[in-house]
Amino acid sequence: MRVLLVEDDNLIGTMVRLNLEQDGYAVDWQRSGEAALQTLRGGRFDCLLLDIGLPGISGIDVAKQARKLGVGTPILMLTARDETDSKVQALDYGADDYLCKPFEMKELLARVRAHIRRSQGSLEVPTDQELRIGLATVNMERRALTTHDGLIQELSDKEAVLLALLHKNPGRALSRADILEEVWGMDATPTERTVDNFIVRLRRWVEPEPDRPRHIITVRGWGYRYEP
Ligand code: CA
Repeated sequence: MRVLLVEDDNLIGTMVRLNLEQDGYAVDWQRSGEAALQTLRGGRFDCLLLDIGLPGISGIDVAKQARKLGVGTPILMLTARDETDSKVQALDYGADDYLCKPFEMKELLARVRAHIRRSQGSLEVPTDQELRIGLATVNMERRALTTHDGLIQELSDKEAVLLALLHKNPGRALSRADILEEVWGMDATPTERTVDNFIVRLRRWVEPEPDRPRHIITVRGWGYRYEP
């Protein structure tokens, strides 16, 4: 299992790396966002641990750009206590979870394990079938989506679960709260806005005209409805 750790604080970085290595992970430690993105382009990781406050580009921008590059690896943000807005932003831009500093190493290791386990298929998502959603096809086993215009997009954990949830409930209006519960469960505490941001992203892949959606329909004051 390979973890990419991005942290500019020497003490925290050393501690985290040591604990991960003791748990059997191979750790690549980078101290800036630029170096992290370069490393991500060069190899596959099972989990990404991202400090928000980095010299140069921030951890949030790294998460954003990683998702744009099609990286589906679980992202766990490490945040300072006073960065509430950043936490929400991080989740909106594709991070899966966050942990506030100072954190217990045990807690960090448990979260890393949980995210890796879930991203590797023990998910409550059918892994043996191709789902058709709107004009896109999702291969759950490869965790890849072919967009309406034929591009391949690697899916993050949450994106895959959300697509499977919509697919399972055709014609049914799902509330934002239901979606949060089903997709995020006990993880972190994303807001209903997070759901909206994920939907915006999915529509771009599934709908030829994302501004006039025909498959993932907004139900005003409530949530979303999937129409095959
Ligand atoms: Ca920092």
